[in-house]
Amino acid sequence: KKGKKEEEEKKVQHKPVPLSIEPLVAFEDLKRKFPVGRRLFANVMGRNFAGPTQVQMAALPILLAPEKLSGGEDLPKEEGPVSLLVCAPTGSGKTLAFALPLLSQLLKEKKEGSVKVGPKALILAPTKELAGQIVNELRRFGLGTGIRATLVKKGVDVRKVKSEILVGTPGVVLRSLQPEGDKKKKKVVKPETEGSDEESDEEETPEEIKLDGIPTLHTLILDEADVLLDDMFRSQTLSIWRSHTPTRVSLWSATIPSSTESLAKSLILTSSPSSRILRLT
Ligand code: ADP
Ligand code: MG
Repeated sequence: KKGKKEEEEKKVQHKPVPLSIEPLVAFEDLKRKFPVGRRLFANVMGRNFAGPTQVQMAALPILLAPEKLSGGEDLPKEEGPVSLLVCAPTGSGKTLAFALPLLSQLLKEKKEGSVKVGPKALILAPTKELAGQIVNELRRFGLGTGIRATLVKKGVDVRKVKSEILVGTPGVVLRSLQPEGDKKKKKVVKPETEGSDEESDEEETPEEIKLDGIPTLHTLILDEADVLLDDMFRSQTLSIWRSHTPTRVSLWSATIPSSTESLAKSLILTSSPSSRILRLT
């Protein structure tokens, strides 16, 4: 009995923010209600998905049209970018839920022609395999839009990349952001970590580390955020976040354990005055 009550209490605590926006019930509605551009729309339709998944229904409208979010009782009317913490099951299509709004945003900026050349978005993932898959999905959905995605690998100088989107593991991204001198020093000190991209070593990356931030960057996406904020990756992820102060942050995960929940919330709250938590698990 007691267990049941505790469970109920937990549910109440984690009650999702009521969706104060109309969900996207069919991908066809992208055309009318949340215009993403003709090419992007065609690329999504070309996948022949029966319809959006639950997380896509909920997250796509928020990210595509934050101005349509009504504040609800306790929140001000949304203005500007919205940051999100999203928990939804593995296999529920979270990649599309962050990839499509990102591509749409970058396309809009490109059409407006007002932004400088250079990476606007950084997507972090805990493994290079996952990072590679995200790049592939971005290229598939972004086909013909001119929006480019680059996988950050050893030897890639992120300061010279012209792509709008960078994707990589925290370790390799961190290393590529380090001032040249520091990078050389590190190689000598820690030769055994060479070749392993996602190797994490807290000692190697003290929190005060000085990074060359990417000045054009406005968006940070953490995929599998629970892993990126756990003990192994936390200091690296936070170093990257701190050196950029992005105005749009989104965290995507199947679960956010209570140990990282407050950190996850503070990341989205700090980045944008209007942020939302979307819990489907
Ligand atoms: P998650 O990141 O939530 O674990 P993924 O983004 O990796 O899930 O998607 C899992 C699979 O579901 C992928 O093969 C993807 O192409 C597919 N998928 C994405 N959206 C849909 C959809 N609306 N309907 C059917 N399959 C989808
Ligand atoms: Mg995923």
